Amino acid sequence: MAGGGTLRVDVVIVGGGAIGVCQALALDRLGYQVALIERGSPCFEPGNPERVVALNEGSRIELDRLGVWSSLEQMGTGWIRHIMVTESGAASMVHLNADEVRHQGRRVDALGYVVDMAHLLQSCYECLSVSSVHLWKESVICGLHVDQEKVDVHLSGAAPVERVQARLLIGADGTHSQIRRLAGIAPFGWDYNRFGLVASIRCEKPHEQTAFECFRSSGPLAYLPLADGRYSIVWAVRPREATQLLNMETAVFQRALMQATDARILERIGAIEQVSPLASYPLELTIARRFTKPRIALVGNAAHTIHPVAGQGMNLGLRDVMRLSAVLDSAIGHRDPGQTIVLQAYSEGRRLDVAAVSAFTEGLVDLFALRLPGAGALRSLGLRGLQRVTFLQDMLIDHAAGLIQGEAQREVFCA
Ligand SMILES: Cc1cc2nc3c(=O)[nH]c(=O)nc-3n(C[C@H](O)[C@H](O)[C@H](O)COP(=O)(O)OP(=O)(O)OC[C@H]3O[C@@H](n4cnc5c(N)ncnc54)[C@H](O)[C@@H]3O)c2cc1C
Repeated sequence: MAGGGTLRVDVVIVGGGAIGVCQALALDRLGYQVALIERGSPCFEPGNPERVVALNEGSRIELDRLGVWSSLEQMGTGWIRHIMVTESGAASMVHLNADEVRHQGRRVDALGYVVDMAHLLQSCYECLSVSSVHLWKESVICGLHVDQEKVDVHLSGAAPVERVQARLLIGADGTHSQIRRLAGIAPFGWDYNRFGLVASIRCEKPHEQTAFECFRSSGPLAYLPLADGRYSIVWAVRPREATQLLNMETAVFQRALMQATDARILERIGAIEQVSPLASYPLELTIARRFTKPRIALVGNAAHTIHPVAGQGMNLGLRDVMRLSAVLDSAIGHRDPGQTIVLQAYSEGRRLDVAAVSAFTEGLVDLFALRLPGAGALRSLGLRGLQRVTFLQDMLIDHAAGLIQGEAQREVFCA
């Protein structure tokens, strides 16, 4: 450490959510000196309701590579082996099955895994505790200076130093990223005027590792299977409906949820027997116009926050981590991870994936919100077509399982 309370590292990461920590672990493994700054004090106690994410096979492989997956698995992960998609009030539906997926000639265990965010963070921080990463919690940035050679980050809060100097600054500080703002990167997007209501529920029948998604005009309602046999639901509703649902007695909410659930799904899950308290999240689209600036890169929600309809935000963030780590791996000989050419390679490698996933997600949101004449027929054609056209189904399954991206990332790693 230099005098005057300055620490010099190769990379400083701001934001200790799952994406920031995974990025820190990945770069530590490559031999970079890394400092990680988190403004809060992460909580490892599962909430009530649990806040969960569905991760695809590509994300599982990456978490395994970083050493995070094994303890996460011990804490319990729900498996998604089947997915059933319906549109409320329409006849069409789609079934996807893990048995139909082959990856490099072998079967995959699951289409996805449902993990508790608190468990994911706990596993990430356990790995961090045995790494060389300098971690400072309850610390914030109060100044940033960028020149051709380095970034200077001024800190306040609990950090033992006042300043960190690094060759590269990574913003992993979520949707309303301070780093994105300080870097002068404007985002685009919109407020969906919807809230995502989350609850954990117990149903009459076993879930048999099936995730259900029911498209409704106000937004989708998803049931994700948890390790202990319950489901976590994510229900996108308009603000007024959200206020009403949040203020209902449990038994009244239970009835409202059953009414909103497609009859074919209800037949599979049976009566809803127990409901946890509800949590709500405002839903928005926020995409950074650029993912890099000289000596700065954005990852995770700081770069792109999308609608949770297709459960892809965290998966997308983990692919940022993989891509940035891959390009920094090839730059390690030069000891300058902030070179423009490196950051360009990261940005170019991520643009298409982020555009494709956000367009796919927007397409789903828009298609199922359309109330124009003929829109219902279009939707059912879409769902029926998907069920019949095998190669489209395969593509959807591969995307759901993260296998297409997994391949692309491996190519990068081999390059
Ligand atoms: C209802 C809902 C359901 C979802 N379901 C899925 C799903 O099934 N599958 C999926 O892949 N994704 C899902 N997502 C998306 C996923 O949760 C996010 O993409 C992911 O959590 C983003 O992680 P992150 O680390 O980038 O950001 P965050 O989790 O927001 O972490 C940012 C971190 O930065 C810290 N921070 C913020 N500002 C500063 C600062 N100035 N200085 C220092 N630290 C700072 C914060 O304290 C936090 O720890 C869902 C989202 C919602 C809302």
